[in-house]
Amino acid sequence: MTTRKSSAARLSVFSNSALVLMKVAVGLASGSVSILAEALHSGLDLLAAVIAWVSVRAADRPPDDEHPYGHGKLENLSGTIEAALILATALWIGAEGIERLLHPRPVQVSALALLVLAVSAAANLLVSRHLFRVARAEQSVALEADAHHLSVDVYTSVGVLAGLALIRATGWHWLDGLIAVGLAVAIARIAWELTHRAAHPLLDARLPEAEESALVASIRADPRVLDCHAVRSRSAGAWAYLDAHVAVAPGTTLEDADRLEEELRARLRRHHPRLDVLLHVEPAASGEQG
Ligand SMILES: [Zn+2]
Ligand SMILES: [Zn+2]
Repeated sequence: MTTRKSSAARLSVFSNSALVLMKVAVGLASGSVSILAEALHSGLDLLAAVIAWVSVRAADRPPDDEHPYGHGKLENLSGTIEAALILATALWIGAEGIERLLHPRPVQVSALALLVLAVSAAANLLVSRHLFRVARAEQSVALEADAHHLSVDVYTSVGVLAGLALIRATGWHWLDGLIAVGLAVAIARIAWELTHRAAHPLLDARLPEAEESALVASIRADPRVLDCHAVRSRSAGAWAYLDAHVAVAPGTTLEDADRLEEELRARLRRHHPRLDVLLHVEPAASGEQG
């Protein structure tokens, strides 16, 4: 499991390294701010991919004395840092784009520059598809964030490619700045969505409502369970946590309550293999008070 996840993260590191080198080279040669912006963007993607790679490995470590709840939140922390970096890039590219829009400079669009952008779009498409598959299978927040990100990058590369082809055909050099501004907006959106997904679990936000209701429904489905209340859920990276009160018939023995608790836990784990369940079993009469 772990190997598949970290080799997927490593693939993203390698592909981004190659893209950065190619884009910096053609960006400098052409003097185009939109290609340089793409290069900077890929540079940050590389940094983000390294963070994802390291954090996926670290987050998979089993709980230890210092971290009895495990290390899952490392994935959320790295996702949040990644989002902040992406936002910073967006601001830089936006400022540079506006400057070029106001004071256009001639841009040399070579066929090589267009080829590099086409290769970049194709590479990001292939890598993001692979990451999506692994992220779904392994329920990895960090990998999924990386996959989403790379799939948006396909559009940014294609957008810059189309714009530069237009500059080459028409000689409208101001387009370079305009493309950079559009790129900045697209990148800022990635940062916003990623912040939302990655940072919320840091504040112990509940699981998605549909997921939590499915878990509670599975508890209530047991005929021995008369009520289920005081439900709390949260997530940390690939792990989820659920605690709840389960009311049973008064007079139930401690042994029966214990067996019920274990059976419920096993059933819930079938919904979510990385679920940590804590159930408080109580007699139904006192259940209403809490
Ligand atoms: Zn990117
Ligand atoms: Zn209760």
